[in-house]
Amino acid sequence: MTTLFISDLHLCSDRPEINRSFFGFLEHEAKSARALYILGDLFEYWAGDDDLPDPFNASVTGALARLAASGVPVFLMHGNRDFVIGDAFAHASGVTLLPDPALLDLYGTPTLLMHGDTLCTLDRDYQAFRREARSEVWIRAMLARPLSERRAAIEALRRQSEQEKRSKSEAIMDVDPSEAEAALRRHGYPRLIHGHTHRPAFHRHSVDGHVCERWVLADWYQRGSYLACDESGCRAVQLSP
Ligand code: MN
Repeated sequence: MTTLFISDLHLCSDRPEINRSFFGFLEHEAKSARALYILGDLFEYWAGDDDLPDPFNASVTGALARLAASGVPVFLMHGNRDFVIGDAFAHASGVTLLPDPALLDLYGTPTLLMHGDTLCTLDRDYQAFRREARSEVWIRAMLARPLSERRAAIEALRRQSEQEKRSKSEAIMDVDPSEAEAALRRHGYPRLIHGHTHRPAFHRHSVDGHVCERWVLADWYQRGSYLACDESGCRAVQLSP
């Protein structure tokens, strides 16, 4: 049995092909997994758990809940798009929320799970925004606003960030390798699995004489994909479109 990892699905109601892929993945590949880990940005954005009744959101939580009820543990880490997902979402979908980072014993190999945005330290503007937006005060103030207002504010933020991305260099938006190595050192030289950069890859880092694997998960913009790990290691798998 394998343990599956996905991230950066960016689910939203206006991308029906990817949504079909995701529901199919939950009903087939994930059904026979030992566990499923979703490492952030499951949604294009999440405005708050009071948006659970929205029909599309309800279809996602329902599908996750069916998988969890069938006996496959599902774990969810926040991404930068859906970091206000809370306990009501976790309850409705049967998932267990994971802190970022989370260290896991994966078939005997210590494995560090992260969304990945904290590793992109060359992007100082983003890191400054992240520090502010992840504070309890900021989140509480945001969730106190009416849902419609929150949705509009997030749309505006997304447009702004799309524009900023165009003027930022590719290097600035990628993982700073020295930051990845610092995280590996801090956690005792584990294997690292993360998403966020949308640059699927397998890296090897030599840290203080330890060789550490770093797997970067693919996004689901064009097609779905996942990382499957077992006793013999990990492999990236693409879903048929
Ligand atoms: Mn992300």
